[in-house]
Amino acid sequence: MGKALIIGCGGVGSVAIHKCVENSEIFSEICIASRNIEKCNELKSKLEGKTSTRISTAQIDANDVSAMVNLIEIFNPDVVVNLALPYHDLKIMEACLKTKTNYLDTANYEPEETAYFEYKHQWALDEDFKRAGITALLGCGFDPGVTGIFTAYALKHYFDKIETIDILDCNGGDHGYPFATNFNPEINIREVTAKGEYYEGGNWIETAPLEIKRSYNFDEVGVKDMYLLYHEEIESLAKNIPDVKRIRFFMTFGQSYLTHLKCLENVGMTSIEPIDYNGQKIVPLQFLKAVLPDPATLGPRTVGKTNIGCIFTGVKDGKPKNYYVYNICDHQACYREVGSQAISYTTGVPAMIGAAMLISGQWNLKGVRNVEEFDPDPFMAALNKFGLPWKENFNPELVD
Ligand code: NDP
Repeated sequence: MGKALIIGCGGVGSVAIHKCVENSEIFSEICIASRNIEKCNELKSKLEGKTSTRISTAQIDANDVSAMVNLIEIFNPDVVVNLALPYHDLKIMEACLKTKTNYLDTANYEPEETAYFEYKHQWALDEDFKRAGITALLGCGFDPGVTGIFTAYALKHYFDKIETIDILDCNGGDHGYPFATNFNPEINIREVTAKGEYYEGGNWIETAPLEIKRSYNFDEVGVKDMYLLYHEEIESLAKNIPDVKRIRFFMTFGQSYLTHLKCLENVGMTSIEPIDYNGQKIVPLQFLKAVLPDPATLGPRTVGKTNIGCIFTGVKDGKPKNYYVYNICDHQACYREVGSQAISYTTGVPAMIGAAMLISGQWNLKGVRNVEEFDPDPFMAALNKFGLPWKENFNPELVD
């Protein structure tokens, strides 16, 4: 039915590509393009012969807008799926505008030299995308992504008014290394070492990094410590969900991860300020990334489950109502299916579904959009079909 150009062939890209070829009714043709074409060719030869989706590959630098425009013009996709890094979002969006092609990503733009992400840079392109008659679907992974779809679903089916949202991201997996990150180490460490922030009563409340800690008993995982972080969907949900009074995001971390991170921070290894080393400029965090395990290699050794979802409180028919919707994903089951651990899996599957929504026309609002602005029902059905079934709890334990 349609064509997708997928930029980036790392942990998340690889899962999304596996899932596109599984959904060959929608994805009749894909082009896998990344900085390193060998990875794209390797994946292509692994998948060819097992699918009716036609697969091509290309080498691309996502920072090079004219090369991106050229590739888009040659391949002529219905959607460009950006699974490279957040630094590339604006360049890829520019190429999409120039070629009038739909765009999708899973993480919002962040300037490489400032570890702070916010939607304003991408939302500023809304009128341009509307004028071009195309859609930019932002943040279509799990969080952001499915968390926004869970919110739209809760509002559509269970609430007249949502008052509080707590997003709980639990990774109960163990990869056996003393320290490793489950997605791109540079992006992950920038996120975790940043100040915390949440939304309450129309205000943004800042905390020191990892200052607010809670414990929660996660279904099929058990009790875990979790910490309040700033996360991008707080910004879009505060804008798009009327009446919401408070939105918080919590992520679990094990003690070994936190102890290593503190030590690396204390010696300056997480800094993004370039330093001079033997006459060469290096960024300590980028050097650290180079010595840490590649998240794409964690699949075979990671055991355990993730549990990610949202707890809502609010009002229905004049009465108070609580609702929790979440997905549980097993690292080893993901590895058996697509050769990746669950963090890449839970991000790559929604990216494929979002692209399918745009290609099929089931989601057709134009402009720069966040997932909660669309009808959640077809997406929720696709989550069940493509490996991320969700569970509901109408009497959840609340977070204080
Ligand atoms: P990886 O580092 O594994 O993959 C990134 C890919 O992008 C690699 O294939 C890399 O190529 C490629 N790339 C990097 N720079 C360029 C460039 N200049 N031009 C072309 N390709 C480039 O990262 P992940 O797969 O772990 O993460 C991908 C994205 O998903 C990130 O933006 C991350 O923030 C996001 N994410 C979102 C989540 C969500 O739930 N919303 C959760 C987890 C991740 P090479 O192989 O040469 O390095």
